[in-house]
Amino acid sequence: MESKKFILQEQDIPKAWYNIMADMPVKPRPLLSPATKKPLSAEDLFPLFSKEVSRQEFNMTDPFIEIPEPVRDLYRIYRPTPLVRARGLEKALGTRAHIYFKNESVSPVGSHKLNSAIPQAFYAKEEGVTNLTTETGAGQWGAALSMAANHFGLNLAVYMVKVSYNQKPYRRSIMETYGAEVVASPSMSTKAGRAIITNHPNYQGSLGTAISEAVELAMSTPNCKYALGSVMNHVCLHQTVIGLEAEKQMEMAGEYPDIVIGCFGGGSNFSGITFPFMRHNIAGKANSRFIAAEPQSCPKLTRGVMQYDFGDEAGYTPLIPMYTLGHNFTPANIHAGGLRYHGAGAIVSALSEQGMLEAMDIPQNETFAAAHIFARAEGIIPAPESSHAIAAAIREARRANEEGTAPVILFNLSGHGLIDMAAYDQYHAGDLVDYAIPQQEIDDNIAQLPKLI
Ligand SMILES: *Cc1c(COP(=O)(O)O)cnc(C)c1O
Repeated sequence: MESKKFILQEQDIPKAWYNIMADMPVKPRPLLSPATKKPLSAEDLFPLFSKEVSRQEFNMTDPFIEIPEPVRDLYRIYRPTPLVRARGLEKALGTRAHIYFKNESVSPVGSHKLNSAIPQAFYAKEEGVTNLTTETGAGQWGAALSMAANHFGLNLAVYMVKVSYNQKPYRRSIMETYGAEVVASPSMSTKAGRAIITNHPNYQGSLGTAISEAVELAMSTPNCKYALGSVMNHVCLHQTVIGLEAEKQMEMAGEYPDIVIGCFGGGSNFSGITFPFMRHNIAGKANSRFIAAEPQSCPKLTRGVMQYDFGDEAGYTPLIPMYTLGHNFTPANIHAGGLRYHGAGAIVSALSEQGMLEAMDIPQNETFAAAHIFARAEGIIPAPESSHAIAAAIREARRANEEGTAPVILFNLSGHGLIDMAAYDQYHAGDLVDYAIPQQEIDDNIAQLPKLI
């Protein structure tokens, strides 16, 4: 491989996360109480989340928030992660574009999710919490939180979306190896789960449903908090270690990205790679493009509406101002389980409304084709989620070829795909289908939302 790595030292692990809300001239709309429709404050979230992440959720004033030393200590296991100039990929595409990727797949659990799992477990422990609950789609977030919870001596119950529980049994094994309890969702152990199973006995689950179950358990168990792996502002905050490191590494490479790309589920890895660069756009010092790559089958940014919606199926969470397909939207069973979520986080949604970013929706087969080009050129087998970012980078490089330009493209490799090989097998057998959603289905789900915007 001719690709070149840019390596930072341990002391270069950021000492603070970047909070883009402080720099946004127009702030995201507030979270609302589902009961009163009034804006919430940090205290309102204390029953659900740890106090510190609740405060971070509402912090619109501090551009940098200190990373606690025990969190940096655990980051040291895998951070700083490499930035790679993907010369192999450039050659395979015959492009003059310079393509870089930030390799978050080197974390022990294989994805970027650990960047937020560690602080969330740490803060919970600090506040005397003994138990955590969460949901997981493909199992990446569950695996990350299992590792972090175990490190800080917390018990963890994970509701895993049923389709992934069956498609990705090894992620369950990983969570159990770290000591977590894993339940397929929908389950009969919660009211929310029982209601869905009664109405749809064959329902294969969604992130929205699994969140309802985890929230319900947290609210009904003493000394138990809920932790979420994406969407919320504090999660996006924690993920900015990705972009802060990448910024230094691009400097080492002597370049600045014209285009920054992240795949898009709820927005955490996209926020992580883009926000530290976006701050220079906000300050008028740069003019990069930011592209969120989402699945064609779950296109909240490209085809959803900006509206207040619940983060979960049952409607237990606060109302979030988000681009959404409606919380009752049932995404197709595509293999990028981590992208099967109906909405986008509040910050990204506001930035999208303000024209600060672009979104691209990509069919499943195109993402697997991109994954193969990348694996053969760079040696790393990407997660199906990350393959959306790769596909978007390839589209941009090909477009540059046609236009005769040579942009600097940076994308986030959010995870590896070594536990997703069943999906690769299906692609090899020609069994993967593309799912484009009929407009009527989107309209029907959106019509059910309260009109608060
Ligand atoms: C969870 C996950 C995603 C999607 O979540 P975001 O919050 O949108 O980043 C993307 N890639 C991988 C590898 C994941 O595990």
